[in-house]
Amino acid sequence: MKILLLGKNGQVGWELQRALSVLGEVVALDRHPVATAYGSLAGDLSDLAGLRETIRSVGPDVIVNAAAYTAVDKAESERDLARTVNALACQVMAEEAVRLGAWLVHYSTDYVFDGSGTTPWKETDTVAPVNYYGTTKLEGERMIEASGCKHLIFRTSWVYAARGNNFAKTMLRLAKDRPSLNVIADQIGAPTGAELLADVAVAALQQAVVKPGLGGIYHLAPMGETSWHAYAKFVIDFARAHGELLAVEAVNPIATTEYPTPASRPLNSRLNTEKLRDSFSLHLPDWQRGVTRMLMEALNK
Ligand code: NDP
Repeated sequence: MKILLLGKNGQVGWELQRALSVLGEVVALDRHPVATAYGSLAGDLSDLAGLRETIRSVGPDVIVNAAAYTAVDKAESERDLARTVNALACQVMAEEAVRLGAWLVHYSTDYVFDGSGTTPWKETDTVAPVNYYGTTKLEGERMIEASGCKHLIFRTSWVYAARGNNFAKTMLRLAKDRPSLNVIADQIGAPTGAELLADVAVAALQQAVVKPGLGGIYHLAPMGETSWHAYAKFVIDFARAHGELLAVEAVNPIATTEYPTPASRPLNSRLNTEKLRDSFSLHLPDWQRGVTRMLMEALNK
């Protein structure tokens, strides 16, 4: 199996480089040109003609897209670029996947929902993004679905990885210097590890290639739920229990309304993962398990 991986150095892309390697030949690209067995190639999603050419040069059996415009607040003002990368590039990938008879594996977000209520979102629930990033991600999903290509789309939430910056590491850094932290307590979701996102995509893809009826949209997040505030407390308590010297004494819960940002955020980011678990006979761990692993790495324990 020949796989073209786009966005190889993002949180999820990095883990996909590892996880996909057991499936076959992986041509992994970021936005910059690099010499490959298929010539000099770039996977720049803002260059739609170039992206199409890259896919045609490789001729993959599977396109895995881990690249995205993920700057949620900046997307409100950089609209054209956000839409090109998150939606129009998906259309190009999907069209080329149809032409090649290839699978397209893609990631989306709970931000396609409006965040109302407290019930975990199902794949069939009504979508209504509250920010422009969510709007572009939804358009990307729809373009993939409309193309008729074989696809797996995983909607997820609150992604973290051991590599790079993330909320947990930011909390640890701030907790070292500041006596108190204010953290949003009324947005609820599940922190999702990039490792889990990569490993589940591989497991699902392995099944889908022999059973194409499994294609579609799936919600993917670990079990359990938390708020950013409780997540921050979990991280800080864990670090302290493992010998980190932290200045922080108070972690104060605040409301979303007390922390205005250019893009609105949904309050309810809970995802119902039943369809994924049932369709692929998968077990999803509690969110604390992956966060603990990431913290052990970050703290070098
Ligand atoms: P990251 O922000 O870690 O990585 C995104 C990657 O996309 C980066 O490597 C970035 O490259 C690349 N990229 C951005 N613009 C372009 C472009 N024009 N051409 C090529 N590559 C580009 O994101 P994650 O790994 O966290 O996200 C993976 C997926 O999960 C995305 O689809 C995202 O929408 C989704 N998701 C993420 C969530 C999160 O909390 N992060 C939550 C829910 C869903 P560069 O470094 O060069 O900019």
